[in-house]
Amino acid sequence: MSEHQENSIYVAGEWRTAASGATREVLDPADATILAVVAEGGARDADAAIAAAHQAFGEGRGPWPSTPVAERAALLRRVADLLQRDREELGLLESLDAGKTLEEGRVDVDCVTDAFRYFADLVVSETGRVVDAGSPDVHSVVVHEPVGVCALITPWNYPLLQASWKIAPALAAGNTVVVKPSEITPLTTIALMRLLDEAGLPAGAANLVTGPGDPVGARMAEHPDVDLVSFTGGLASGTKVMRAAADSVKKVALELGGKNPNVVFADACTTAEGFDTAVDQALNAAFIHSGQVCSAGSRLIVEESLRERFVAELARRADRIRIGRGTDPGVECGPLVSAAQLARTEDFVASALAEGAVLRAGGGRPAEPHLQDGWFYRPTVLDRCHRGMRIVREEVFGPVLTVETFRTEDEAVALANDTEYGLAGGVWSADAGRARRVAARLRHGTVWINDFHPYLPQAEWGGFGKSGIGRELGPAGLAEYRESKHVYQNLAPRPVRWFKG
Ligand code: NAD
Repeated sequence: MSEHQENSIYVAGEWRTAASGATREVLDPADATILAVVAEGGARDADAAIAAAHQAFGEGRGPWPSTPVAERAALLRRVADLLQRDREELGLLESLDAGKTLEEGRVDVDCVTDAFRYFADLVVSETGRVVDAGSPDVHSVVVHEPVGVCALITPWNYPLLQASWKIAPALAAGNTVVVKPSEITPLTTIALMRLLDEAGLPAGAANLVTGPGDPVGARMAEHPDVDLVSFTGGLASGTKVMRAAADSVKKVALELGGKNPNVVFADACTTAEGFDTAVDQALNAAFIHSGQVCSAGSRLIVEESLRERFVAELARRADRIRIGRGTDPGVECGPLVSAAQLARTEDFVASALAEGAVLRAGGGRPAEPHLQDGWFYRPTVLDRCHRGMRIVREEVFGPVLTVETFRTEDEAVALANDTEYGLAGGVWSADAGRARRVAARLRHGTVWINDFHPYLPQAEWGGFGKSGIGRELGPAGLAEYRESKHVYQNLAPRPVRWFKG
């Protein structure tokens, strides 16, 4: 597949090339061939898209913000239907572009569909409230209004999903948006813009600029006509976005990384079934999408008495994970997204081994000849890790699981909370009281008990600490994109006589 989409920039309802004429090759991570050629936008393209969104917002009186809320919800539902119509095509495109398995690509489309439907339902039910001002002569209401022009910047691991978690609530609330997908995986976001257009979104309400973080994303973060920037990506870029946004005091939402603990108590594994489930889910937590998941359970924190048995089985099964092109039948793990991500993973593993970690599975690239051109790395288990190690503290974003151990519940909690991040974590225990106690003490935005990874559109997603600011999904995920306005109406105005003269 090699497609030419040099007109991948979408401004005021028109598809364009980059102002500079520059293009970028989007590569297939399974063999480094060219999947597509897209526009490589720059600051001028960002400015044009922001100007279009600003004009379309029209101080809240533009065609989209003044569309009745029920009609906005209806359009979101049409987008959901179109996503399902194109499920196979979009799932395949996501699989090819991001390297995930075809089944994961399809599941992403379903999750995105759910998000559009959820926000369509939510926005019509959350319309504001009447406030009792304590007087029959006062009518006081709090209403919700759109924030304005929203800059939406997304990463490469869940391109369609991350874009949709922002686009759906932003449009539901009546904002106009400028979207910048990752330069590495822009293809499904381009496809989504075509669906928004097909669903009947007015020109200028949603704009798209393909191109690099700097200058395109950086310009969006600093631009005075952008009212809100919502960013999902790494900590380093997120802090730059926050700094760039400061001068114009725009609203900032950040969904950053994680170094997520998966805490396993021995009591979860006293039966054969319990043991099998906890091992199986620890594999899933760490290695799905080759570990390129912000909530990957990349830190296994297991009770000391269970360690050897648990890690031996984990390593045995990790070695059997079938690696390959995500679209090939039977493949369970695709490649890493880029040569840079592969090099980063190799570097982390080398540093861990130098610091004393013990390799139990993986630890290098696969040997199969047909995998040599892609950016594949074998699922890797590193035992005997400790919090002093770089690999335990920093996000690898590759298929690497570190193992630490604890003896007491307090120690397990202390280890799990010993991270600058706080996105997500898991607790495995057959003792419901213990599991709830530990969950209550974890400083993470999502805690799974006897599970790992599920999320619901109705439940907020986001992190404590350096995992970010704000929440996506749930009612808070819509509130991010709304201003609240208190309108206090005095029905019987009289002088107050504060000043007596
Ligand atoms: P990244 O920070 O390199 O890039 C993310 C996006 O920001 C891209 O579109 C990029 O072009 C843009 N960008 C880069 N520099 C910028 C700048 N100075 N100003 C504005 N925009 C800029 O992240 P990535 O490598 O694409 O994605 C991986 C990271 O994303 C991981 O850290 C992962 O944990 C995180 N992530 C978090 C969540 C979450 O929900 N918390 C979800 C997915 C990914």
